[in-house]
Amino acid sequence: MTTEQMASEIEKLKKEKNAVIMAHYYVYDEVQDAADFVGDSFFLSRKATEIDADIIVLCGVRFMGESAKVLNPDKKVLIPEYAADCPMAHMATVESVAAMREQYDDLAVVCYVNSTAELKAVSDVCVTSANALKIVSRLPQKNIFFIPDQNLAHFIADQLPEKNFIFNDGYCHVHHALTREDMLKAKAEHPNALLCVHPECKPEVTAEADYIGSTAGIINYVTESDAKEFLIGTELGVLHELHKRNPDKTFYPAAEMQICPNMKKITMEKLLATLKEEQPEIILSDDLMENAKAPMMRMLELAK
Ligand code: SF4
Repeated sequence: MTTEQMASEIEKLKKEKNAVIMAHYYVYDEVQDAADFVGDSFFLSRKATEIDADIIVLCGVRFMGESAKVLNPDKKVLIPEYAADCPMAHMATVESVAAMREQYDDLAVVCYVNSTAELKAVSDVCVTSANALKIVSRLPQKNIFFIPDQNLAHFIADQLPEKNFIFNDGYCHVHHALTREDMLKAKAEHPNALLCVHPECKPEVTAEADYIGSTAGIINYVTESDAKEFLIGTELGVLHELHKRNPDKTFYPAAEMQICPNMKKITMEKLLATLKEEQPEIILSDDLMENAKAPMMRMLELAK
C-alpha cells in the first residue's frame, strides 16, 4: 500500500469510528499530515481536554498516550506502538519523591510531562517546557524538586534564583547528546544562521543559543523572525512544520543524530493497523488516573 492509500484508508476509518488523531512534531512527516492536531506536549495536553470523539489515537511516545487517557478517562486512547517509550519518562522514582518529601517541609514536586503516570501521580504539579517557568514562578513553595529532566530544571532554576531547586539526574538522550563543540562548529559553518535549541539540551549548549524554547516556541520564533537561516537544536521532526510555515527560510541541523528512535516507531502502517484493530490501548487504573490528573489539571490552571 502506498502512503497515499494508507492516508485515505486512515481518513475513512477515522470518520467511521469517530476517532481523532493527535501527533507530536517529532513523528514522521506523513504521520503528522494524517493527524487532526499536531503540536508539542503542552498543546497536546491542552487539546486533549477539549476532544469530542469516541477514540483518541496518540501518535507519540507512551507517556503522551497516558496523559491523553488521564485527561479522558472515559474515552478509548490508542497508541500505534506500545513499545514507543521515552527513556527519560522513567528517570525518577516514586521512592525518591517520598524521600524528598521527608526531607523538606516546604517542597513542591514539579513533574515534567515527559514522565510516567506513576511519577505524575506523586507530584504536585506538571509542567511542559513551554510553561515550566511561568508555573514554577507561581508556586508558593521555596524548595522545588524538579523531575525527571536535569537540563530543563537548570534552565528554569537559572531564571528563578529565589527558588531552591533540587535536581534529579534524568535527561533526554536525544537533546543531551548535543555538545558545545557541535554548536560552535555549526555556527562557524553557518555564520548568518540563528541557533534555536530546546531547554532539554545541556546548559553549555543553551549558553550558545540565540533562542531557547519548546518545540512550539522554536516554530513561533522562527516564523516571526526576519532572519532567513536557522540552526535547529531539537528533534528534526520539527523541520516538517518549520518548512510548511516558512518556505522561504533555510534550516540546518545544529548537530548530527537529532532523531528520537522512539517517536520514529510510529509509522503509517502502525497507525492504520491501530485504527483497524483498536489496539494497543492505554489502560490505567482508576486510582492512577485520578492521582495523575490532579497535577495535570493544576498545570493547565496555572498556565492560563
Ligand atoms: S525526544 Fe527525548 S524526551 Fe522526547 S520522547 Fe524522545 S527521548 Fe523522550
